[in-house]
Amino acid sequence: MSDRLLDFTQTAMGKQIAGLLGVPTPPKLRRAKSGYAQQPLEGKKVLLGSASAGELSPALVSALHEMGATIVVSTELPGLAPVKKAATDAKIPLKTEATGEGAHAYVFDASGMEGTAGLRQLYDFLQPRLSKLAANGRVLLLSRAAQDTASVAAYTASMALRGFTKSLGKEIGKKGATVNLVEVGAGAEGTIAGALRFLLTEHSAYVDAQFLALSKPAKGALLNSFVLPLAGKTAIVTGAARGIGASIAETLAREGASVVGIDRPAEEGALGLTMSRIGGRGLALDVTSPDAGDRLAREIGGLDIVVHNAGVTRDKMLRNMPQHWWDQVLDINLGSILRINESLFQNGLNKGGRIVCISSIGGISGNAGQTNYGATKAGIIGYVEKLAEQMAKNGGAINAVAPGFIETQMTAAMPLMPREVGRRLASLNQGGLPVDIAEAVTFMASPLAAGVNGRTLRVCGQNFMGA
Ligand code: NAP
Repeated sequence: MSDRLLDFTQTAMGKQIAGLLGVPTPPKLRRAKSGYAQQPLEGKKVLLGSASAGELSPALVSALHEMGATIVVSTELPGLAPVKKAATDAKIPLKTEATGEGAHAYVFDASGMEGTAGLRQLYDFLQPRLSKLAANGRVLLLSRAAQDTASVAAYTASMALRGFTKSLGKEIGKKGATVNLVEVGAGAEGTIAGALRFLLTEHSAYVDAQFLALSKPAKGALLNSFVLPLAGKTAIVTGAARGIGASIAETLAREGASVVGIDRPAEEGALGLTMSRIGGRGLALDVTSPDAGDRLAREIGGLDIVVHNAGVTRDKMLRNMPQHWWDQVLDINLGSILRINESLFQNGLNKGGRIVCISSIGGISGNAGQTNYGATKAGIIGYVEKLAEQMAKNGGAINAVAPGFIETQMTAAMPLMPREVGRRLASLNQGGLPVDIAEAVTFMASPLAAGVNGRTLRVCGQNFMGA
């Protein structure tokens, strides 16, 4: 379903009329048109700043350089010693400019920051320059994970960054720009490069005001090449006939994976069409059938990537909810995931396998009439948290992506008013597209996310629900 207001306000006349009527003008988001590249920031300026300690500057400077960015440091800022030292040590050139006007991204290394003095350095870096941030630009903050900080002042500053991020997102969304916070755990420095490739590029257009925690990667999980990161991998995607699942299948295939799309037998025709378009294979299978896991192992086997996307809503207030609606939603959205994974852990999932489950912001905020749906989607968040350690022991990972309002058949079926409210109550002022979820899933399924395990990433344009 298309967003008519977004389409209308992209025209000159539409923009003018919207302005006169005081109607919001959602920004046009720039999305990736092709797969991951070796130098995605070639020809782009990234303004880099740091707090006095700047422990992550070496990893940051080298990651930005490898991405092809022109790294700019402002002549007006004192300090920046960690950035300058990192660049000198690695023989990486820095460009000096006063404002960094037109920069694609502002990146700030807030690691080692303590108390309000550290936060002041962040203010000094961003405040005078924010109005110069390009449309669809990125602000990215990096900090030490709060639990790894050594002092009360450092812990406090680390937590303060979360409130800063959420508030800034609500200021800069109007121009399609986003802000995110990467929290780097001990031993996870090597995984920053992969996260930056997602968060600083058009692959993350609808990811806004989120905290992405990186932890020490499993042995052998780091990436060798950034181009076609899924080459040689076999992936399955459930619910792949249409909507988000079809887009996930397509995006995984774009990055080199061999994809098998799964959907109910009734969707066989649509599934076949989607799979032949992306060069994948379709398998008609109801994920709730008791032998689903066995069939996946038997008929495909050797899985590297498993995406549990199939999901349904059957909304009714709890007092009116029939038992079969409760059971159906619980079984499709959650029970089947647990059963299939248990089976694949015994047989079918390769060492180093990565699993991605689709949750929902409805599982975070809750919605009247969605006790069944909300329970399953929150259950997924707990499930991936709990299973992370077990997956890491086998060199793999399990994560979830929680979509906000996404333009699909599921949301097209909503009544007009809740649909319009669901779309607009977000910093980016619009619903996402299936490809936005597909990009996040593809990131989670790839070695770019080597440091991400047991996490749930909201992809919601900073939807205010549950924010
Ligand atoms: P969709 O358009 O309804 O597509 C879901 C697909 O899953 C359909 O092809 C459906 O087939 C299939 N499916 C349902 N039950 C199945 C089963 N038992 N076995 C195999 N396949 C089955 O939904 P969507 O909007 O793309 O949503 C995909 C996922 O994202 C879901 O988990 C949903 O909860 C989640 N999500 C969506 C949004 C959103 O705004 N759209 C927001 C948050 C979360 P049938 O047509 O036969 O049912």
